[in-house]
Amino acid sequence: MTEIMQELEEIVGDRASASPGERCCYTGDASQIVGMPDFVVRPQSTSQVSRILRLCSKKLISVTARGAGTGLAGGCSPVKGGLVLDMSGMNRILEIDIENQQVIVEPGVVAEKLNSALKPYGFFFPPDPGSLAMCTIGGMISYNSSGMRCVKYGTVRNYVLNLEVVLADGRVIHTGKKVLKSSAGYDLTRLFVGSEGTLGIITQAGLKIAPLPNTRKLILACFDEAEIAGQAVIEIFSNGITPSACEILDRTTLQVLKLCDPLLAIPEEGDIILFEVDGTESSTSEAAGQISEICQITAKSVRIASGREMDSIWVARRLVGAAISRLDPTKTRIYMGEDVGVPIKEIPALIKKVQQITTKLDIPAMKYGHIGDGNLHVALFIDVMIEEQWQKLRLAADRIHRAAMELGGTVSSEHGIGLVRAQYLPEQVGTETFSVMQSIKNALDPHGILNPGKMGL
Ligand SMILES: Cc1cc2nc3c(=O)[nH]c(=O)nc-3n(C[C@H](O)[C@H](O)[C@H](O)COP(=O)(O)OP(=O)(O)OC[C@H]3O[C@@H](n4cnc5c(N)ncnc54)[C@H](O)[C@@H]3O)c2cc1C
Repeated sequence: MTEIMQELEEIVGDRASASPGERCCYTGDASQIVGMPDFVVRPQSTSQVSRILRLCSKKLISVTARGAGTGLAGGCSPVKGGLVLDMSGMNRILEIDIENQQVIVEPGVVAEKLNSALKPYGFFFPPDPGSLAMCTIGGMISYNSSGMRCVKYGTVRNYVLNLEVVLADGRVIHTGKKVLKSSAGYDLTRLFVGSEGTLGIITQAGLKIAPLPNTRKLILACFDEAEIAGQAVIEIFSNGITPSACEILDRTTLQVLKLCDPLLAIPEEGDIILFEVDGTESSTSEAAGQISEICQITAKSVRIASGREMDSIWVARRLVGAAISRLDPTKTRIYMGEDVGVPIKEIPALIKKVQQITTKLDIPAMKYGHIGDGNLHVALFIDVMIEEQWQKLRLAADRIHRAAMELGGTVSSEHGIGLVRAQYLPEQVGTETFSVMQSIKNALDPHGILNPGKMGL
């Protein structure tokens, strides 16, 4: 241990630690999965990362990369001990290249900071998770994260042009050039997107950016039942309308929103869909009109918001997942079964299934999410001191995952597999496909030192 610590200090100076206090601060992410690392290292350059990995590969030390630790699947939890590589210190925006519509950033850049830097140029990086103000670009790439506006703009995968990656043995590779498109060889950029730190450490990213829209409008449509709300979403998309956001909030979520901001002018009862449209004044007015017209057929009420009112609704919407315990302070939200996704045609069936599962098990649940992508967040919350409630929770989460797979969907639309959903990956993708994933892992990380155990690899 002492010898390894000395070698780490030679590489990063006092940015390496084996102190119990510091290690305790790196045990996990925002999920319930934890592990104790033996070392915490905060590199500041690609060459430092490369030297650290060469050392770890020689000494067979596990390496778990960490961005901001906001992940919800245990991805950065060091469950096999070893070394946590805290990438948040590599946080420089290296280049803003408006002519080429791209930026080059280090992985520790926080997404909102990137957007603040781009705003004066009239551009933005569209993927926008609820954790935008905290999460890092490296974490987002590693989970292929998304968020509210991905229904129109696409997920992180659509914006990563090229990557600099340090492989398990310390080699540094570049997966592409500074071009908007390329058809030269295997698409290694995409291989690393969503790889959850199991194939290499991202030390630099070239990202595509998009022009900021001039105008946004929000349509609030309130329905008697979540299932009917789901049907309205299908109707909107079938009519060729693409909103820039399409979020479902069930009646429990509305209560939480009100607790976040009592002044919000949202209905107290019913299930809501928030449709946002963006573009020019005239295109947004036209799309908002079309959406209102379609919703009016089945909704209890429909109205259009903009400006400050719209902004405060979005602020509260971003808080809702984390604020659920305000509903009952004795209960805690556990991130299991929370990120399923299905083809949008199957949304009403998924909502119905989830309702049946949670009612039958008598487990409190809040349903919200990026319904325009077919992505439903089911927030299950329990008293963590009662073992029986844990058992119900595990059963409910398992049934929700299986319901999504039966409907041709996925156990995770955006939060990733990590450890929380590792058992489902082979089942979802099939054993042959999973064995190809395992072969890729073995080829790039033959000693299995990178984020061991994650994704079931
Ligand atoms: C309140 C809240 C709201 C959220 N809302 C959303 C949402 O709307 N949409 C969504 O998709 N997610 C959401 N999330 C989940 C989370 O914020 C995202 O998954 C985010 O992208 C994780 O980023 P991070 O920097 O915290 O990564 P971490 O949690 O630190 O790490 C995530 C994964 O990336 C790996 N990793 C990190 N950096 C690197 C690197 N440089 N190289 C290789 N691997 C690396 C880690 O090993 C881990 O496997 C939310 C979380 C919270 C707490």
